[in-house]
Amino acid sequence: MKHLSYKDLYKRLRSRFGYLNWWPGETRDEIIIGAILTQQATWKNVEKAIANLKSEDAVDLKKIRKMDIRRLERLVRPSGFYRQKAARLKGIASYIFGNYGSLDQMFDKSTLALRKELLSLNGVGRETADSIILYVAGKPIFVIDAYTKRIMSRVYGIDEKIDYDELRSLLSDKIGEDLDTYKDFHAQFVELGKENCRPKPRCGSCPINEYCKYFMNSTGK
Ligand code: SF4
Repeated sequence: MKHLSYKDLYKRLRSRFGYLNWWPGETRDEIIIGAILTQQATWKNVEKAIANLKSEDAVDLKKIRKMDIRRLERLVRPSGFYRQKAARLKGIASYIFGNYGSLDQMFDKSTLALRKELLSLNGVGRETADSIILYVAGKPIFVIDAYTKRIMSRVYGIDEKIDYDELRSLLSDKIGEDLDTYKDFHAQFVELGKENCRPKPRCGSCPINEYCKYFMNSTGK
């Protein structure tokens, strides 16, 4: 079976899906809100919650900080775990504006210092922290999600239960630090995960099937 380097994996995905210009959010506040709401939720349901917030002109962390919690819960309800998520959104908004006054002030520090700080906030795990660092703060850190793990496991035979930071280092070390590539590569993983590498994969039309262990094993090649 032919080997596919991580750089060539990115090139192949990009030539299939094009440059994806991610994250799907119009403002920095919307990206942070989306990163919280997408926890344990499909993006479709996150979109419904964001549409609710937009209908009340509330895709705004400063407004969320002051908003009545019951009203916020009602607006984000479509994304599930709405009480928890409303509390998390308020907590993050209070932290940022209570301690820094603006996103720019908070993000004006090293990637590792920012990551440590974000991870100390209630409800912010590694995927959420790294999404905020990459897509909002504009600092190069690779984001790992369930799609990334599934695809890396199927294509390269990597254990799907691999530790988040271990897989992040594996990819970062081979690709080299580059903000635009990190942003787009994560988006490509998501696209492949939605289009082809689903729980029940559509391998026939997959752009990397000739390099994929899972596909080759299933076809006996
Ligand atoms: S060939 Fe199949 S299993 Fe492999 S990455 Fe593509 S869709 Fe996933």
